[in-house]
Amino acid sequence: MNLILLGPPGAGKGTQAQRLEKTRGLIQLSTGDMLRALVKSGSPLGQRADAIMKAGQLVPDDVMVEMISNRIDQPDCKQGFILDGFPRTVVQAEALDTMLSEKGLKLDHVIEMQVDDAALTERIVGRFTCAKCGAGYHDRFKRPAVDGTCDVCGSHEFTRRADDNAETVSKRLVAYHKQTAPILPYYAARGVLKTVDGMADIDEVAQQIEAVLG
Ligand code: ADP
Ligand code: ADP
Ligand code: ZN
Repeated sequence: MNLILLGPPGAGKGTQAQRLEKTRGLIQLSTGDMLRALVKSGSPLGQRADAIMKAGQLVPDDVMVEMISNRIDQPDCKQGFILDGFPRTVVQAEALDTMLSEKGLKLDHVIEMQVDDAALTERIVGRFTCAKCGAGYHDRFKRPAVDGTCDVCGSHEFTRRADDNAETVSKRLVAYHKQTAPILPYYAARGVLKTVDGMADIDEVAQQIEAVLG
């Protein structure tokens, strides 16, 4: 099964994708994580991406399409994947269609997670992740069971993203409404779009997604 989780920054895409990895054995393909790894590599492309991400803008479509196409070709994706953060423009959505048909793959579901803008800033500003295994947490909504210790791997080191501040968030929300939201009618017209209430708590959202997947 191949899915897209679609929604604004902070909607809970990564949180639900990490759950689906466990419950369904799918692979999470997060373009944000791939870009952060590229930035860490210090390559010229990574340096360019770093500046764009810090400004809350989108990395060019051609870079993203090539990145995701190469990733989908890796053998672990055969078990099914969750696109988290891609596509983010209509150009990317069209390129994805072409690439999947060339690879003999199909999309089973596109799930939109609806969250009010007002809730997103609080979610993003309180977000942190385990530095070792990448498990996601929140200062208020998803604290580790034991403060300062990762539930998944026991690590005591956590990180916060450079772009998870109120100023950059507002720019990312503008980019979402202008450049990404137009993908919704694109998938609705093709009858694959399902919507879940992303304002519900994490377990409830997971149940709504399970109901869509059947
Ligand atoms: P995205 O991948 O869509 O940007 P995340 O999954 O990283 O979003 O979630 C953003 C933050 O909000 C994280 O700190 C996460 O723990 C928290 N979060 C995720 N889903 C919910 C929810 N349904 N209710 C409250 N907080 C949530
Ligand atoms: P969030 O889920 O909080 O929106 P991501 O981790 O998905 O954040 O993305 C972080 C940043 O990486 C985005 O603000 C954007 O600059 C860049 N990015 C990620 N995916 C894409 C994409 N598909 N196209 C263009 N830029 C992207
Ligand atoms: Zn961990």
